[in-house]
Amino acid sequence: MTEKSYNPYAMAQAQFDKAAEALDLDQASRDLLRQPLREYQFSIPVHMDDGSVKIFRGFRVQHNDARGPGKGGIRFHPQETIDTVRALSMWMTWKCAVVDIPLGGSKGGVVCDPHSLTPREEQQICRGWVRQMARNVGPDIDVPAPDVMTNAQHMLWMLDEFETIHGHKGPGFITGKPVGMGGSLGRAEATGYGVIYTLREALKEMGKLPADTVASVQGFGNVSQHAIRLYQELGGKVICVSCWSQKEHTSYSFKKSTGIDLDALLKITDRFGEIDQTAAKNLGYEILPGDAWLEQDVDILIPGALENQINGENVGHISRRVIMIAEGANGPTTPEADQVIKQRNIFVIPDFLANAGGVTCSYFEQVQSNMNYYWEKKEVLERLDHKMTAAFHAVSELAGKRKLFMRDAAYYIAINRVAQACKDRGWT
Ligand code: GLU
Repeated sequence: MTEKSYNPYAMAQAQFDKAAEALDLDQASRDLLRQPLREYQFSIPVHMDDGSVKIFRGFRVQHNDARGPGKGGIRFHPQETIDTVRALSMWMTWKCAVVDIPLGGSKGGVVCDPHSLTPREEQQICRGWVRQMARNVGPDIDVPAPDVMTNAQHMLWMLDEFETIHGHKGPGFITGKPVGMGGSLGRAEATGYGVIYTLREALKEMGKLPADTVASVQGFGNVSQHAIRLYQELGGKVICVSCWSQKEHTSYSFKKSTGIDLDALLKITDRFGEIDQTAAKNLGYEILPGDAWLEQDVDILIPGALENQINGENVGHISRRVIMIAEGANGPTTPEADQVIKQRNIFVIPDFLANAGGVTCSYFEQVQSNMNYYWEKKEVLERLDHKMTAAFHAVSELAGKRKLFMRDAAYYIAINRVAQACKDRGWT
């Protein structure tokens, strides 16, 4: 599969088929789970600030809700496609199942580029998305959350529209809300921290500490920023991060061999995670091509951006020193690259396990919203650590026992749980 022919849905289905075969899953379960239960595609007309009217395409895909209401973020991205959303919804099903939270898998999106939208226009897109979906989402049906280029403010606009349409308060409709408006403390940190909780456990099994390791990170958005924070707190050193340059439509890597200074970099980073190149140069960073993050002489790689980033074309450039890949992003590694990584015996913490901290904290947010009682940050993060650590060890134990690659072991556990729920309900 070359980068050009890459289709995330085909990849998600191929991963599923392989696991289903190994699990000897019955045909009905295969037919049910290899595609989404429901899909919505719609138009969102927006009156732009310049007086024109622009039509944006919106999506929501509900892959499976046998274990509980659908759950998953809404992405704003200019290259969003229905197939990307289908793949992401499928990965959400496995993600919720592998950490054993009572939720199914969904995903949503809008084809738009927030870089070129005003806050009022973004608000109209959020409200328009909810107007199209209001009858088919909700606390007991399907619960959205933030994802790439969406944030707590977007969630609050969406909640407000949902409550206006339904005529009552319903904070359980959406997660990732602002703290103080029904949001959970720790939600912003949760995905990145979750990556590092699993990384810490994986290193422990190898008899190593984060402080013995050096890492390189792709992406500098919410996931990567918080992952770097915790990894550094545990003593790890990050020598390279990459980010997307909106103006130049390409990405760059920022390298400092002595270790990056997270707070200094955050000061010169915009809300989309783009680092200012001139300011970075002045701080002593070397600016390298986008793929350079992958080629560094490090122990750990953390892809924390988008899908299809480690593929057949660049997997050969991974340094001999790399012992571990912790997938903060969804679907960052293609099956072709996976083969090479397997042969090289690099330990992979697969995406839907490594980055499950976000949705786990979203689940905690729902629990808190239902109780109308909010926990201290310490309690949220302790519970998160506990859940992620337990999920990691369950997968790693199975991988050890059956001599499986971590991704395959995670698929076995997740697919088994979802297939069983479908059977227990009498669907299959
Ligand atoms: N968008 C995040 C993910 O891909 C979080 C989803 C959620 O909290 O529902 O896992």
